[in-house]
Amino acid sequence: MNSSNDTLAAKGMGRLFILSAPSGTGKTTLCRALMKHFKDMRYSVSYTTREPRKGEVSGIDYHFISREAFAEKIKEGKWAEWAEVHGNFYGTSAGFLDEALSSGRDVLLDIDVDGTRQILKRYPDSVTVFIMPPDLGILRKRIESRGSESREVIEMRLKNAEMEMAQKDLYKHVIINDSLDEAVADIVSIVEKYGKGGRQ
Ligand code: 5GP
Repeated sequence: MNSSNDTLAAKGMGRLFILSAPSGTGKTTLCRALMKHFKDMRYSVSYTTREPRKGEVSGIDYHFISREAFAEKIKEGKWAEWAEVHGNFYGTSAGFLDEALSSGRDVLLDIDVDGTRQILKRYPDSVTVFIMPPDLGILRKRIESRGSESREVIEMRLKNAEMEMAQKDLYKHVIINDSLDEAVADIVSIVEKYGKGGRQ
């Protein structure tokens, strides 16, 4: 147990786990695996102004909201962090985080690098994990095989992926997702070490 864990445990607070990865890195699958493994952990469902993809469910994958509603919440200071990614807005509810953490639950965030910087200022005890694709060729194939985006959007996502990968040093843990099972095992052991399990 480290001193930061001691402090959180003494306060009965949960801890934030931030997972960032370029799109197409298998992050959604990893997040689902984590949530299945840690039954007490809460997933912070982000808000976004982007259109739902096929199969995405509002309230589970994202809360899909209008640009006007998003801007209103910026004015009201309702976001713990927010960022514009690929031309759409994404944000994390400050109310949700504070409520979950103060009820002693660990929380999983799936946000980009910009958002991570903001969360680290507000919650410096957060545990940060960056997921790397095995290589850019594989990433391109994964994004293309989703078949849900135009050529222009695919190129933008790939360019953004390179920019994000260049900032991976911001993160305490970096995991290469070439084998899903191994990547899941790596993240599970990180959460076990720093999360509630590791503190008990
Ligand atoms: P996608 O549109 O593929 O679901 O997500 C695009 C990017 O937005 C991903 O890098 C994802 O991590 C990021 N993202 C999703 N939710 C949030 C959020 O609440 N805040 C920030 N800053 N980024 C987010």
